[in-house]
Amino acid sequence: MFPANKIADDRSVTVVLGTGGTIAGRSARADDHVGYVSGEIALADLVANVPGLQGLQLEVEQVAQIDSKDMDLRVWQALVQRLVHHLARPEVGSVVITHGTDTLEETAFLLHSLLPSDKPVVLTCAMRPASALMADGPQNLLDAVTLARHPGAKGAMAVCAGQAFAALDVCKVHSYRLDAFDGGEAGALALIENGQVRQLHPWPVMHAPNHDAGHDLRQRFLSAAALPSVTLLTSHADADGLIVQALLASAGDRSMQGLVVAGTGNGTVHRTLAAALAAAQEQGVRVVRTTRCARGQVLAQSGHALPEISALSPVKARLALAMELLSA
Ligand code: ASP
Repeated sequence: MFPANKIADDRSVTVVLGTGGTIAGRSARADDHVGYVSGEIALADLVANVPGLQGLQLEVEQVAQIDSKDMDLRVWQALVQRLVHHLARPEVGSVVITHGTDTLEETAFLLHSLLPSDKPVVLTCAMRPASALMADGPQNLLDAVTLARHPGAKGAMAVCAGQAFAALDVCKVHSYRLDAFDGGEAGALALIENGQVRQLHPWPVMHAPNHDAGHDLRQRFLSAAALPSVTLLTSHADADGLIVQALLASAGDRSMQGLVVAGTGNGTVHRTLAAALAAAQEQGVRVVRTTRCARGQVLAQSGHALPEISALSPVKARLALAMELLSA
């Protein structure tokens, strides 16, 4: 179903899928970098405005036009559907996705988890709207296509400000700067410098195996009316268990199935919150711990009442648990 990547050459097609974001944003004034509306400019126009992209075998498709803070299951399903379609086409060598920066790392993780492909899938974005005096989107888009068409490149990645990060590692770390992303302790996978790719680490391998289990999870994801409800909480000084108790008490169509707690330090949890989480666990809710620290991972402690997801950021751990519940 998913043919292996052939060495990218000038004839292979790169499909560019648009989902919106600041890269497609417009503000009333060219010097306004924050008071703009995301997802305003058509992807075809963004691509047409990048001189270096002319003459390449590109296909452009608008999948959505949203501010990625509002990313939801419907848009994810549409995106995965189109990726499954395009990645199966032998003439397609790679896919680039334009995306808002706010939830880019979540979409990247999701694609990494669901797509069994050797072909590169490269997300890119911008921190300034397309209407800015010095917009960063055009260069990021050019860099993303450069990486996507680089011979041998594969896996789910994100490109911003000349750096490429693996989907597993990428994380938005700045609210305003152009180089808003980083790869945590793993660092950057590659640098894109003046049209050249300088690879620093091996290309990532997508997670979903190309066999029935991966296919089954993808099908469940694509046909789900809603993802299993997983709530993300943070442990902090003076924490209490009120939210957990309220969630347990609220009966609704989407009853809580999972809780991820971003713990302090090595996944430690305030004792009051821990007691509420233990009660939730007893009632059948899956509870896992990760860390609110930007670096490091949770080292397993034998006998801890709450299991840990060691090496994922809180938002990615939330998605990982939702995927696990979906496949159960
Ligand atoms: N709110 C915007 C979005 O995520 C931010 C951005 O793209 O930089 O769509």
